[in-house]
Amino acid sequence: MTGWVTIAGLGPGRDDLVTPEVNAAIAEATDIVGYIPYVRRVADRPGLTKHESDNRVELDRAAHALEMAAGGKRVVVVSSGDPGVFAMASAVFEALENGPENWLSLDIRVLPGITAMLAAAARIGAPLGHDFAAINLSDNLKPWDLIENRLRLAGEAGFAMAFYNPRSKSRPHQFARALEILREACGAETLISFARAVSTPEEAIRTVTLAEATPEMADMRTMVIVGNRDTRRVGDYIYTPRSAS
Ligand code: SAH
Repeated sequence: MTGWVTIAGLGPGRDDLVTPEVNAAIAEATDIVGYIPYVRRVADRPGLTKHESDNRVELDRAAHALEMAAGGKRVVVVSSGDPGVFAMASAVFEALENGPENWLSLDIRVLPGITAMLAAAARIGAPLGHDFAAINLSDNLKPWDLIENRLRLAGEAGFAMAFYNPRSKSRPHQFARALEILREACGAETLISFARAVSTPEEAIRTVTLAEATPEMADMRTMVIVGNRDTRRVGDYIYTPRSAS
């Protein structure tokens, strides 16, 4: 049996937002690997083994997937959204770089998914219609100083911004600091949208100005989108014009 590893994105939550290509790979898999809630989104069936792990062990999980594929298994590593956006695809390539030589000849594919930023933007209107920056606000894998610097520079440069992992219980003060920096760099009247659990039954979306925004409006299931200085409301929608003023 020839093994392979496919790193697949499951989209933001709803089943009909999983691509047919990803469903086909899962149908052929012998093993599913990933963070607990994502693995649970894959239906059980005879012949399929599911390996759930905590979200802090990405490299071990990636190495485990490669090892199983080298042993002949057909392995799908699942991420939410897109696997290349703050997710498992990079971890698999990092494990490959640090692993045994024979892993280099494995069949490895990355299958895209609808990332949270795009699912959220579509529900809001078109807030990312002009240039934008996608930033992970978690300081698990980078220093907080670097995040502050990028926020300030992106705001000053006039980018709209999409924030992943905006706020967690272990670092409640950082998002308050991020809002302060954004008010200074972008102006207090800039629109900011909070899109929680997009495409799931718990979905909740609201837009306010940076002056009105408070840290409690975001949690770890929220995508935060800050407009640029031209971003505005039309009816119930928020959009950023194609041209910059
Ligand atoms: N690879 C994923 C992102 C993983 S980081 C992707 O491409 O979407 C996890 C962060 O994504 C969460 O903290 C949250 O900010 C965002 N996120 C994931 N699913 C979401 C959803 N359904 N609604 C809103 N935000 C979501």
